[in-house]
Amino acid sequence: MANYFSIFNSKDMLTEKIGCNKITLSFQEGTEVLFRKTYFTNSILQLRIAIVLVMFLYGLFGFLDLLIFPQYVDFFHAIRFYIVIPLNVCILLLSYTKLFEKIWQLVITFDYVLGGVGIIFMVLLEPKVHTYYSGMMLIFFSGYLFLKLRFLWATLGGWLILLIFNLLSIFYSHSSLETIISSNFFFVSANLIGMFAAYYMELQNRRNFFLNRKLDRDKLTVEEQNKILEQTVVERTKELIGAKNATEVINANITSIIEGTGDSIWAVNREYEILYLNQVFKEEFYQAFGLRLDAGDCIIDHLPDSIRSKWIARYNKALANEQFTVEDKFELENGHIYFEATMNPIIKSGKVVGVSCFGSDITYRKLAELELVKAKEQAEESDKLKSAFLANMSHEIRTPMNGILGFSELLKEPDLSAETQKEYINIIEESGNRMLIIINDIIDISKIEAGLMDVHMSDVNVYQSIEYIYSFFKPEAESKGLQLIRTIPEQGAIVSLKTDKEKLYAILINLVKNAIKYTFKGAIEFGFIITAGNVQFYVKDTGIGITEEKQERIFERFIQADVSTTRVHEGAGLGLAISKAFIEMMKGEIWLESKLNEGSTFYFTLPL
Ligand code: ADP
Repeated sequence: MANYFSIFNSKDMLTEKIGCNKITLSFQEGTEVLFRKTYFTNSILQLRIAIVLVMFLYGLFGFLDLLIFPQYVDFFHAIRFYIVIPLNVCILLLSYTKLFEKIWQLVITFDYVLGGVGIIFMVLLEPKVHTYYSGMMLIFFSGYLFLKLRFLWATLGGWLILLIFNLLSIFYSHSSLETIISSNFFFVSANLIGMFAAYYMELQNRRNFFLNRKLDRDKLTVEEQNKILEQTVVERTKELIGAKNATEVINANITSIIEGTGDSIWAVNREYEILYLNQVFKEEFYQAFGLRLDAGDCIIDHLPDSIRSKWIARYNKALANEQFTVEDKFELENGHIYFEATMNPIIKSGKVVGVSCFGSDITYRKLAELELVKAKEQAEESDKLKSAFLANMSHEIRTPMNGILGFSELLKEPDLSAETQKEYINIIEESGNRMLIIINDIIDISKIEAGLMDVHMSDVNVYQSIEYIYSFFKPEAESKGLQLIRTIPEQGAIVSLKTDKEKLYAILINLVKNAIKYTFKGAIEFGFIITAGNVQFYVKDTGIGITEEKQERIFERFIQADVSTTRVHEGAGLGLAISKAFIEMMKGEIWLESKLNEGSTFYFTLPL
């Protein structure tokens, strides 16, 4: 059963779909007002044409009256030309007023019924003439389909005409039942068909209206949305342009910083491929390894084997999200450089995607640091030396001082033999001399340091000087069991040398004295030779010798080859420093050759 009625399923019906009443076809209030307005606007032209046509046809059919009803022609023409056509003229004029829109359906219905009643009279006055029945059909036809009446008004008009026809048939023309019934067959049918047609015509009209309105609304919404979209696009575009400009400025700044810095900057991804590198890095890498790097290159493939694994480990450490700084030393063709690199993990969305590195050439800093360490060590060393010197000096001064004081005390003894007294006085004298030497040394070194030491040049006979030194030290050497030899070139090779006599003596005395001091068996040989533009003196011994290490520093102040040796051999460690300073003042040079336990030879030159 349900299937049979499913065609009435309200949801499928057009009226439901467009939201209008099934019988009256009206929409809800607001929509209905709009629809009627639209319907009027859409219909008015057709209506006016229809009215004109109806008037024309109504008038034209007056010709029929002449042919068929000459006896009623006046009456019929009165209906046609004095009632219906003037009424239609009036309606036509009324259609141009504002009022018409409100009352047009009622007015047209009235016109329709009036036109119908006119034809009814014609039918009833001569029921045997069928021509006017066709006129009735035309009337129904135009009422339902032509005059733009809405379904309800057309239906009302149609059935009213039929009612009037029946009433007039019965009470005015007393037509036969047969005539009335046969007429009704046609007129009722015409009404039903007309109603059906009018209903669906209006329904289609309403549907079109509904769809158009929906379309308009949709169009409006689309337009509205388009506008919003356009606005949004404009705003977004502005924002984007702003952001793009800002990004460009930032990028330009970053690039200028990266390229302007004197440091190396580069970055690699997880595959060690170079994401970025600045010019400084390119150049430093080329200098260090002779390879040109470019973005996209795998950096570890370009590293020398010797350091590859070290750098892989460093990149891996940074890729494991650690930030740190490393230091490296690279050997270059022209020396080496110290390089410091800071490795930073690059983090994107919480994941390490690469490593960015900042490297600087820290050679200058490193060298300065090393210099500083060296200077510190030297300062410490010099401090140690000064302490040792002071200890040594106090020993050197105290020993002869004790000698002087001790033996002076002993001299006070009244019963001393003349021999003992002489011995004591000798010791006191010796101690005094020793102290004088030390004090002279200290004064000399102080003068040298203060720049107060003067040079007094004079002609010095070198042969005489050697001779003097020889006779001066001969007794001391012999008393120690040493042979003292002087070797000099043949007389006449050189007579005199322009130099400072006192200083030359001081140097020779110092060297020969040291030679005797540090030699226990063998010989001491000294003298000079003539070389290109110089007189080259030498003092050679077969003594204890000096280690290579000490040889380097032996001419420095306060240095004694070994502090412990001084305990055995007296001396303040100033003699060689003073000698060197004197020689340099006289534009000469001093050096030595020595082998431990075999002996030493000191050389110095003085310009001719
Ligand atoms: P000193 O007064 O201690 O001799 P010097 O300046 O003359 O001071 O000498 C410095 C040090 O050099 C000495 O302490 C000694 O260790 C070493 N030295 C100097 N001359 C000789 C030498 N002929 N043979 C071995 N060592 C020497």
